[in-house]
Amino acid sequence: MVFKSPYPDVDIPKSNILTYLFGPPASAAPSRDPLWYDARDPGRSLSPYHLLQWVRRLGFGLGRLGLGKEDVVMICTPNQIHVPVAYLGIVGAGCIFSGANPAYTEQELVHQITNTTAKLLLVHPKMLPLILPAARKAGVPKDRIFQFSETANEPFQGVLDWREMIGTPEQGDAWNWPDLPPQEAMSTVATINYSSGTTGLPKGVCVSHYNLIANVEQTVFMRYAHKPYSFADRPLERWIGFLPLYHAYGQLYTILMAIKLQVPVYIMTEFRYEEFLEAIGRYKITSLQIAPPILVMLSKRPETARYDLRSVKDILCGAAPLSRELQNECQRRFNVQINQGWGMTEVTCGAIHVPGGIKDDSGSVGQLDPNCECRLVDEDGNDVAGGQPGEMWVRGPNICLRYWRNEAATRDSLDSEGWLKTGDVAVCDDKGFFWIVDRKKELIKVNALQVAPAELEAALLENDHIADAAVVGITLNNNEWPRAYVVIQESSRGHVSPKDVQDWMAKRVAKHKRLVGGVVFIDEVPKLASGKIQRKTMREWAKRDAASM
Ligand code: AMP
Repeated sequence: MVFKSPYPDVDIPKSNILTYLFGPPASAAPSRDPLWYDARDPGRSLSPYHLLQWVRRLGFGLGRLGLGKEDVVMICTPNQIHVPVAYLGIVGAGCIFSGANPAYTEQELVHQITNTTAKLLLVHPKMLPLILPAARKAGVPKDRIFQFSETANEPFQGVLDWREMIGTPEQGDAWNWPDLPPQEAMSTVATINYSSGTTGLPKGVCVSHYNLIANVEQTVFMRYAHKPYSFADRPLERWIGFLPLYHAYGQLYTILMAIKLQVPVYIMTEFRYEEFLEAIGRYKITSLQIAPPILVMLSKRPETARYDLRSVKDILCGAAPLSRELQNECQRRFNVQINQGWGMTEVTCGAIHVPGGIKDDSGSVGQLDPNCECRLVDEDGNDVAGGQPGEMWVRGPNICLRYWRNEAATRDSLDSEGWLKTGDVAVCDDKGFFWIVDRKKELIKVNALQVAPAELEAALLENDHIADAAVVGITLNNNEWPRAYVVIQESSRGHVSPKDVQDWMAKRVAKHKRLVGGVVFIDEVPKLASGKIQRKTMREWAKRDAASM
């Protein structure tokens, strides 16, 4: 059966995302009140008015460099108040925005630059020592790399500041973003975030202007659907922007929803727990968008008790599984409503939410957003019987266009009728509430960030001592970590330890991909006749091991 959203469809304009947010370029009159503040130094802020001035200058500069449709501009920076400028300047000009995790190693950066075929790199000065060799290997010339931060920078090894690349204020004033007729709004790729989908290596997810607009409209509807006040006169909100801006979750809230709802956001450059707690009290933050590991910290870390968190009235939690016990413990302790949402990079950001204003203590991820449909299917793609668990297949205006230059992966994940295979297993009740009960895809979520086992396995096989390897997630204390089962070459047995393998990997991958869940030496990796790793068996091993740890 096809589950439909219980809510009426919302209207989704088909235009350039900038026209959607600000109106047509000639008549845009954005507010001069600050919207983004630097949480460490709130004297540093940016209003929509100033944002648009920068966006126009950037748009002019990109055009002068000859960049346009299908050209990727990659940014590599910690969160900062100018990221919304880069995001909207690049996307609004008709180019494609792709953000790299600033914690990436050189190899990981080379992969993303090469895979996106990025034509231009905007890089925070402190990332330059890492980016320059990566860009050289990926073949990006120095005159296509610019330093990108809130303050102007002196040239570094021939790399100029981005202010040298963009237009003058006058050139910016005269520049208008391209109008996108409806068909083009639907087909023009706006962003490429990375996701491993249901299997294999991370892939670029192509999201259109229309996808973005759809997901803003759907999310606004769901977050305010049942709140006991109307959208127009809702109480003033204040958010804190620590979600990474290279991920769909951060982009949707810190950039798009903030503009749409005119909610000020205090942007944190990096997540430090005590700074986060302190900022909540200092700026009287009213709502949080978080992932479960933050709730684990709120509940377990002793520092929590030292800070005043009473301004927070509601919390949206998504991006990874949240146990019902933790949800309820935190609801009681902090006297706050915690509602979940479910999403994935391939659905732009979210597709299921517990509607804002509803009190939930059931661990449900919520109901389908407007304009969304879902099927729950068995291994053969047939609908499961009512009330039974099945893999979620989702359809709607927020489903991505395709994977970037990877037709095989696109075919595997998106069928001809527009259904996206999510790899998440869910049940649904008769009111249309969903619960995620399992994950059948390979993906591991560490601190709510994606880790693709196939990527770690490929890295492990580059180690001369390792004959074979399989990586799987292990859940310990409400957190998931990568755990490797490794076959050591016969000649190396007795000469390498599991710790050696962990240390070797730590140098090659970003911190969240490290083998914190442990390394176990085994005789053979269980495989199917096709040669594929028996992931189900590996998951059982990890569960068995977790029980004895
Ligand atoms: P990402 O593409 O990084 O957003 O990761 C998407 C994946 O995160 C989903 O396919 C799920 O496996 C997981 N996920 C997201 N939200 C939830 C949730 N509320 N509960 C359980 N898992 C979730």
